[in-house]
Amino acid sequence: MSRQKKVILNESEMPTHWYNINADLPAAGVELSPPLHPGTGQPIGPEDLAPLFPMSLILQEVSAERYIEIPEPVQDVYRIWRPTPLNRAHEWERALDTPARIYYKYEGVSPSGSHKPNTAVPQAFYNKEEGVSRLATETGAGQWGSALSFACQVFGVECKVYMVRVSYEQKPYRKVMMETWGAEVVPSPSEDTNAGRQILAESPDSTGSLGIAISEAVEDAATREDTKYSLGSVLNHVLLHQTVVGQEVISGLEAFGEDWPDVLVGCTGGGSNFGGFAFPFLKENISGGRNARVVAVEPAAAPSLTRGVFTYDFGDTAQMTPLIKMHTLGHDFVPAPIHAGGLRYHGMSAQVSALHDAGLIEAVNVQQRAIFGAAVSFARTEGILPAPEPAHAIWGAMQEALACKESGESKVIVFNMCGHGHFDLAAYEQHLGDNLEDFEYPEEAIRASLEKVPSL
Ligand SMILES: *Cc1c(COP(=O)(O)O)cnc(C)c1O
Repeated sequence: MSRQKKVILNESEMPTHWYNINADLPAAGVELSPPLHPGTGQPIGPEDLAPLFPMSLILQEVSAERYIEIPEPVQDVYRIWRPTPLNRAHEWERALDTPARIYYKYEGVSPSGSHKPNTAVPQAFYNKEEGVSRLATETGAGQWGSALSFACQVFGVECKVYMVRVSYEQKPYRKVMMETWGAEVVPSPSEDTNAGRQILAESPDSTGSLGIAISEAVEDAATREDTKYSLGSVLNHVLLHQTVVGQEVISGLEAFGEDWPDVLVGCTGGGSNFGGFAFPFLKENISGGRNARVVAVEPAAAPSLTRGVFTYDFGDTAQMTPLIKMHTLGHDFVPAPIHAGGLRYHGMSAQVSALHDAGLIEAVNVQQRAIFGAAVSFARTEGILPAPEPAHAIWGAMQEALACKESGESKVIVFNMCGHGHFDLAAYEQHLGDNLEDFEYPEEAIRASLEKVPSL
């Protein structure tokens, strides 16, 4: 048995194009519904998005081109950490006593520690190219804010980050990291915007949410000439940029001598690491005659794919964003303060939602005590200490591996280890001290919130 543990492709083998799944959705019988204007309810055009995004990103958002070239200055920054390693989890397989072969793509080697710079870098680049001097954004766990702060610093763009208050308090060093890269960081809800002041007036102790922080960042961008808005997940162009991940996984598996995986597992917050990892494989499911199962794992505290409804809803709490047809828990749903801050979002990418609705991907949800159990078993065998978000994918891969132990099948399981947990040690401390809480599935809260989803 080969003991090869990792494949790191050469820089010359890094993908030169992003893969756009919109080109292949029609062949799968999947149709994306257009985003609607929040005021009129009519489909929006590129000009409606122009106050928020540079035109190159708007065009990528609606593009049907299968491959879009990665600009050389973006490739040049990618090469700081890309290609990322694909590892075989030999020791974890042995600990789980499974005949499965488990691989993981490790995105934690990026400067900010997750997959997020894969889109932060091109977003900062295209904004700079179109003369934008300042970007406003939100961040949950701090991963996105860190990635955008780094990317803005690279291209000489100012960066303002609205950080969900619960994470701001749980992870003070994320703020220091963002400030090191030159960004300004405030806890959200903040006093800096109308949306923030309104929420603070009603609930002074609000722990915040991604929905609220998005409202603040969108308002900031919409009310300033020099500023545009930048989103780290959910949108088509963000998932597009993340497809460098899945393309590298295909090459990496080939270098390992694997034919094709049986199961792919990723965690889903807004769907970007999952989409970027899985879409190049789904392309082959749709038109290449291959058939890998694709499984999304989400937290029980924010179960948009497994318990939300597939309908038009706002991306933010203050109802300022376009309406997107997606799996949603309702735009004013505030998820319980679980440690996987990046997964505490009420909505889901339109592409991932439509694929799930069409039965092309599966989804499960899980409580946080279980995912930390899986993360510790992984860390004790493979060494890497995962962020709470990919711990969901680790848990999902573990279920697949244990099913193989039952059935005796040696399936190839691949998951996306989309970030390290070096800023999440307070969560590990709680887990190791047996003080970690699970949260009741908030049936009532979700139902109340879903009642406020706009009926069109
Ligand atoms: C932001 C983040 C997520 C959640 O966002 P997606 O768009 O669903 O990928 C997951 N994992 C990590 C490490 C993150 O930083």
